Amino acid sequence: MGTNLLDRIEDMLLMGPGPSCVPPEVYQALSKPTLGHLDPYFLQIMDELKSLLQQVMKTGNKMTIPLSETGSAGMEACFVNLVEPEDRVLILVNGVFGMRMQDVASRLGAQVDVVEFPWGTPVIPEEVDKRLRLKNYQILAVVHAETSTGVRNPVAEIGDLLKGSDCLYLVDAVTSLGVIEVNTDDRKIDALYSGTQKCLSCPPGLAPLPCSEKAVDKLNRRRKKVPNWYLDLSMIANYWGKNRVYHHTAPVNMLYALYQSLILITEEGLDKVILRHQQNHLKLVDGLEEMGLEMLVEAPFRLTMLNTVKCPADIDELSVRRYLRSEHKIEIGGGLGPLAGKMWRIGLMGHTARPENVDRFLAALRGTL
Ligand code: PLP
Repeated sequence: MGTNLLDRIEDMLLMGPGPSCVPPEVYQALSKPTLGHLDPYFLQIMDELKSLLQQVMKTGNKMTIPLSETGSAGMEACFVNLVEPEDRVLILVNGVFGMRMQDVASRLGAQVDVVEFPWGTPVIPEEVDKRLRLKNYQILAVVHAETSTGVRNPVAEIGDLLKGSDCLYLVDAVTSLGVIEVNTDDRKIDALYSGTQKCLSCPPGLAPLPCSEKAVDKLNRRRKKVPNWYLDLSMIANYWGKNRVYHHTAPVNMLYALYQSLILITEEGLDKVILRHQQNHLKLVDGLEEMGLEMLVEAPFRLTMLNTVKCPADIDELSVRRYLRSEHKIEIGGGLGPLAGKMWRIGLMGHTARPENVDRFLAALRGTL
């Protein structure tokens, strides 16, 4: 028998852009006996899970589903279900994930317009307003927490621009859910997708997604079938709704894990979770600035769960990350696109956001630099 590679997995402190550290309760949930995906007890867990998601996402949307896939498929599902060829779509881009939205929407034959903002700065609602006055759009899409730059976009203010219009509002909440209030209903968000491996502190593999009645109405009025069988929300909703019609075999144990992680968030209380992230973020920024390092993003627009810091010109960015991994068992992220090699992305997501982790990281980085 050869060596079982799983025996050699080391315990890493995950302080990158995701996945984040998984709490023991969630690992225990993953290892519970697998039930059939139509087992009555499992259906009960699904119902509870849906209501926990609605609670954390602050939505009463009946169509609230944890899709069996990662955040990217949540993005794809929103566009593929809600966009029809020739639809006018406006995408706000200030980083990698806004660019991905543009790519996904363009593949569906939509007329895609983009308003771009410099990477590291937020979307400016006044600029969006000017663009919205030029054309009637069917969909406006923005990334809430742009993980590639560490910027928080003003989702509420952008949503306000759509008051009284038929345009659907689509928000990427992959990194924000669980740490910035997404307030789906108050902000009149019509479709939102997230991922499990960031602030929900679950392994990667699910994409929670609520859709408003307005979005479901657009889906039901489509002229042609959704051009993707696996992501067709009307079929998936038949399994998550009363009928329980088989569509695909649900990833049962991952759904246990998400259920458990949402219980942990609601037990701690969303407000306290948010505060814990703010406190650890400030502690981290203080420590970084004491070392003479400079943050990429201006203070009011910084994400608390994803901290971007400039790498000094005389330091090799990749060597630092490699050293932290090999000597300190700490993972952090590097820059993407034009920011590659120029900065580090330091995650304080979910279970990772604890003072002892910030101290351990700062001591390791001090020693490395
Ligand atoms: N959107 C944002 C803002 C992200 O940060 C990510 C992943 O980092 C994604 C989408 C894609 O999610 P996934 O990697 O889970 O497919």
